[in-house]
Amino acid sequence: MFEVITESIKNSINKIRFSNAEVSLNNALTQLRKSFLKADIHHKTTKEILNSIDIKTKQKGISQKSFISSLKEVLNDILTTTGNQGFVHSSKPPTTILMTGLQGSGKTTSTGKLANYLKIKNKKVLVAAADLQRFGAIEQLEQICQEIEVDIYSNKNEKDSIKIIKEAKQKAINDMYDVLLIDTAGRLAIDENLMNELKNITNSINIDEIFYVADSLSGQDASRTAISFNNKLKLDGIILSKYDGDTKGGVALSISHQTKIPLRFIGTGEKMPDFEVFIPSRIVNRLLDEGDIEGLAEKTSSIIDNKEAKKVASKIKKGQFNFDDFLKQLDMMKKLGSMKSLISMMPGMSQMKSSIKDIDFENSDELKKIKALISSMTKKERLNPELLNISRKKRLSIGSGLNEMQVNRILKQFKHASKMAKKLSGKNGMKDLQNMISNNGKSNFP
Ligand code: GDP
Ligand code: MG
Repeated sequence: MFEVITESIKNSINKIRFSNAEVSLNNALTQLRKSFLKADIHHKTTKEILNSIDIKTKQKGISQKSFISSLKEVLNDILTTTGNQGFVHSSKPPTTILMTGLQGSGKTTSTGKLANYLKIKNKKVLVAAADLQRFGAIEQLEQICQEIEVDIYSNKNEKDSIKIIKEAKQKAINDMYDVLLIDTAGRLAIDENLMNELKNITNSINIDEIFYVADSLSGQDASRTAISFNNKLKLDGIILSKYDGDTKGGVALSISHQTKIPLRFIGTGEKMPDFEVFIPSRIVNRLLDEGDIEGLAEKTSSIIDNKEAKKVASKIKKGQFNFDDFLKQLDMMKKLGSMKSLISMMPGMSQMKSSIKDIDFENSDELKKIKALISSMTKKERLNPELLNISRKKRLSIGSGLNEMQVNRILKQFKHASKMAKKLSGKNGMKDLQNMISNNGKSNFP
């Protein structure tokens, strides 16, 4: 997520030398200034960050250690604004969140992502479809909710968004939902109508927090529009969307500081799991490539069932990993989101990240073939791949629409992968994994 900034922070730290301490500090700060501006961090914020680091480091006596600790303190200050962090549940459920923002900023997508994030934490979530402006808005939300298996309240015959929201709120109370997320209509630019509509909503039902979805692709504009919104409606949090691909990254570091509204979540891709909670102290660790073990544990523990994980591990060790286990693992991986985002949470892995091709678990042709193959197998064959003799393979080929060569190749790969997994689960597992990754990301997993 922050690889470019992380890399330049590392380089600047390396510039600090014992001899000529003051000169080396200046060099380090110059390097930081260049890369912060290049990453599109606001120039005023950049100046503030550098001044504070300069003063603090000198106070402590110039060394790499004091530079790093000053950098951490300053970044933490910059990223922290008064207000809530992460998702905060109201003492009186359902916690009701109004999602606002301009059209196309990612409101509907972020509503789904937030619902999914909460669902994984075992919360009962209801989503209200209150965008009655855009054609197809309700259908879009319905589709998302179906995908993440979250309940939706919608009414295609109703023209009054406030009425829908009131009905949704009543349902959320009656059916004891923990959270109600309200997706609203946006506009192409800030206008009176939009603001009045949102104001009316906040006046007519009890809202716990108003989130503003800001499109990170709009760069510094994201902060400016957030400020105008905040002047009309008091915002409680920002969700920064589309923070993937080639965004320069800086906006995430300066938006809270400029708007005085806490950045609460970041959307990092089009898929539902591409969503991360923004906790300043954790982000600082990631910026310094010290990983976010806490975040990683949180993300995985809610998805990986501990008992199941132990069962799989013991199967792998014994070389008994079968196709059924493989399907289960795939399903779990899908819920975890992108491989890249997981890896960036591991300490010292930022460099490896660039060598890893992101694996798209749902759409890769290879996986589609594998799934077709597995679905043509009998239950027995899935549990015991050894049963697959020549005649059974012929049957699989017909059933899956793959030719015999493809069938053989996949089965061979699977055997290899299962051997590999067995090896990785051994004493030198972590080392083997690192070797495998640094080997240009050419893992031999099917
Ligand atoms: P809304 O008009 O504010 O509700 O915006 P939508 O949620 O419909 O999103 C507009 C477009 O942006 C859609 O095509 C989404 O798939 C896309 N989008 C939203 N969030 C993200 C994100 O974090 N990353 C990427 N790559 N695309 C996103
Ligand atoms: Mg929408």
